[in-house]
Order: sequence, then C-alpha cells, then structure tokens
Amino acid sequence: MSEPKIVTCPNCGQRTRIRSAAEGFPHFPNCGKPLPWLTEAGIPDFGPVAENSPIPVLIDFWAPWCGPCRIVAPSVERLSEELAGQMKVVKVNTDLAPGLQERFGVRGIPTLVLMDGGKERDRVVGALNLNALRQWVEQRLPAAAKNQPNVK
Ligand SMILES: [Zn+2]
Repeated sequence: MSEPKIVTCPNCGQRTRIRSAAEGFPHFPNCGKPLPWLTEAGIPDFGPVAENSPIPVLIDFWAPWCGPCRIVAPSVERLSEELAGQMKVVKVNTDLAPGLQERFGVRGIPTLVLMDGGKERDRVVGALNLNALRQWVEQRLPAAAKNQPNVK
C-alpha cells in the first residue's frame, strides 16, 4: 500500500489523511464532505484499491517519461475533486507495473480505463482536455452516481 496522503477540505479547511483502499468512499470527518480520492496502485494492491472499490474507478495508466501523460494529469486530478464521492482515480505507473499494462492490453499511454464493480466499462487512449474528459467520464458513470450532489 502507498503512504497515506494528506488532503485539505475545500469546504472547511480540515486536513486529513486519505487511504488508498476503504469500504466506503472517504469523507472529511469534520464536515462530512466526500474526499477527493486520487491514489496509486501497483500489482500487489490493485485488487483492494481498484477492483474492490466501492465506487467507480478511473485508472490512469501513465509513465514518468510520457509527455501526454503529464498533460492529462491535471485534468484527471481536477476530476477527482469535482467527482469526489462518485469516482475514484487510481494512477498506475506502467514502468512499475508492466503486468497490469499487459493484463489490460494497454499499448499506448496515457490510457484511461473506467471500471465499475471490478469490470471495465470503457477506455480512452490519449490526452483529452478537461472538458472532453469530464464529458467522457460523466456519460459513463452509473446514473445513480450522476444524481448525487457535486462538491464545489
Ligand atoms: Zn470539510
């Protein structure tokens, strides 16, 4: 498991730790707002972190040397904030997890795979801009998740 990250609540300013795997999606303890859930996974923890996630997961296959991956990264991070409580983001460094890259048949990066209930729903290859990526994700999230209030 990766180290817990510290995130700051945009609502009340509380700082709290975020874990890479949990039963339900994480909340800020102080005000109850959903935490933006952006984490990393490798081969040993991909099951608990991604496949057993209680909410849909956007897997970001990337590598440090990949220019387009750096371009899409801020959009992916932004979506994890906008869709807090509705979608988790799991980054997979393909240099460190070639087995996962192979298992998903990822040929080019960035590849973004949307998973729900441990199954792939759809994928997109290449760096979309924020608006295109948001639209792509929202069209594929389960209807119930779309109706939950957003965190602004
Ligand atoms: Zn808060």
